[in-house]
Amino acid sequence: MPDVLWCNGRFTTTAERVIGVEDRGFQFGDAVYEVFKFTEHAPAFLSEHYRRLERGLREIEIGNPWRDEASFRETMREILERTEFGDGIVYIQVTRGEEERAHFWGENLQPTAIAYSRRYRFPDAARKERGIKVMTAPDLRWKQCQVKSVNLLANAIAKKKAQRAGADEAILIQDGVVREGASSSFFAVIDGRVITHPLDEHVLPGVVRDRVIDLAIAAHIRVDERPLREAELFHLAEAFVTSTTQGVMPVTEIDGRVVGNSRRGEVTTTLQQLFDALELNARGFAGSVRSS
Ligand code: PLP
Repeated sequence: MPDVLWCNGRFTTTAERVIGVEDRGFQFGDAVYEVFKFTEHAPAFLSEHYRRLERGLREIEIGNPWRDEASFRETMREILERTEFGDGIVYIQVTRGEEERAHFWGENLQPTAIAYSRRYRFPDAARKERGIKVMTAPDLRWKQCQVKSVNLLANAIAKKKAQRAGADEAILIQDGVVREGASSSFFAVIDGRVITHPLDEHVLPGVVRDRVIDLAIAAHIRVDERPLREAELFHLAEAFVTSTTQGVMPVTEIDGRVVGNSRRGEVTTTLQQLFDALELNARGFAGSVRSS
């Protein structure tokens, strides 16, 4: 069953090669991306993904190929309408555009924008209970991690090393501080309090991260947005990572050492259940989960 690819306003499938070899996304990693989840053809947290994309484009001065959020939604609605499978992800990428290769870019360059739907096997109930093992790795990424740039070489290498060591995710450490996962936000639970890195240039503002913080606060679970020291990693009651594709995923082992009692913890279970319910209810094209 073919996926649906939208490229600069035209619909095709990923079987067609639509990107030029001198596109700056390909040559320089000069691009930002987004990934959102859909189930039963309904997207989750579309506004939140759009807002992050828009912010990223603005920060690195790439033009927004969509007039506004409504026109972005319209493109996504059409992709999902044309997609035959009901569950998957949509990957969106906006590059600075294509022109003769030079580090300086032309001022009137038209961005290249693509978005395509793809099947995705989201973790099942057993996986969500069993959790994952993680491995720590040095954070070798560029210094503007709040931008969801396509420069994922350091992330990919860290993740591959983790996989070769029998782990599922790499947790990136810089200057003795736990930043985040290679493709997830990281949370620790100590004394019943949930701890995660504050939003700054060291971490991506995860869509699920923000939802989980709101849910924790509403459930009267204390949240500390503070840098966690690497040494604290081995004294955690619970740990979990969050991402669009994994939701809230328990971490049961860090560098071969068991976290808590090696099972999904109580706080993690509560937040996982609350998040799954929110995601289900917030699905659709209606708007943001935030009233603001
Ligand atoms: N941090 C990094 C580096 C990521 O790549 C991702 C997702 O891909 C996340 C965090 C989680 O972000 P979100 O919850 O928006 O999927």
